[in-house]
Amino acid sequence: MDAHKHQKIIIFSAPSGSGKTTIVRHLLTQYPDRLGFSISACTRSQRPNEIDGKDYYFLTPEAFRTKIQEEAFVEWEEVYENSFYGTLKAEVERIWAQGKAVLFDVDVKGGISLKNYFGAQALSIFVKVPSVEVLAARLQERNTDSAESLQKRIDKFTYELGFADNFDKVIINEHLDQMLEEVSQLVVDFLNQ
Ligand code: 5GP
Repeated sequence: MDAHKHQKIIIFSAPSGSGKTTIVRHLLTQYPDRLGFSISACTRSQRPNEIDGKDYYFLTPEAFRTKIQEEAFVEWEEVYENSFYGTLKAEVERIWAQGKAVLFDVDVKGGISLKNYFGAQALSIFVKVPSVEVLAARLQERNTDSAESLQKRIDKFTYELGFADNFDKVIINEHLDQMLEEVSQLVVDFLNQ
């Protein structure tokens, strides 16, 4: 991909339940002219409230495989068993062409891959919950998971926490408003560099 120094990307990675989606939405509302959200391709089925081409590009496993062969992805991962997610090079180009920095919400491995790919053009931020107990309480409150799925997410959380040191910044989501302010400052500083 033909990347220029002034073309930037900002990556948010975190275990689920840590609040990264809230951060990404907040930033997009705050800086609509400076940031564009990278819409990933994925093979999981579309949820009723989701729009194809807005939340994700929903692809069949065959179409996804073809894209891999065409080297159309910057990175892709099997985030959950049989569910593939990936960032299309064309998507990054689309947002840069609008003169905006690209905002990513990806899993932890994807975040590390993107940072490796874009180097100094990228700011990678790991969002941490204060403790596994807080995470478990938040997920229970959200009430979208079965007991088994909850345990899976908690196990994944513990595993992913080990990768925090691979990120440029680690943010702890304890007090939401305070954290959003902290993140905005980081992002603005990076964009103004
Ligand atoms: P969900 O299915 O709940 O929308 O997303 C599941 C996970 O996939 C989230 O952790 C999300 O950050 C991650 N994800 C979404 N898009 C991508 C992508 O393009 N690459 C990678 N590696 N992970 C992604």
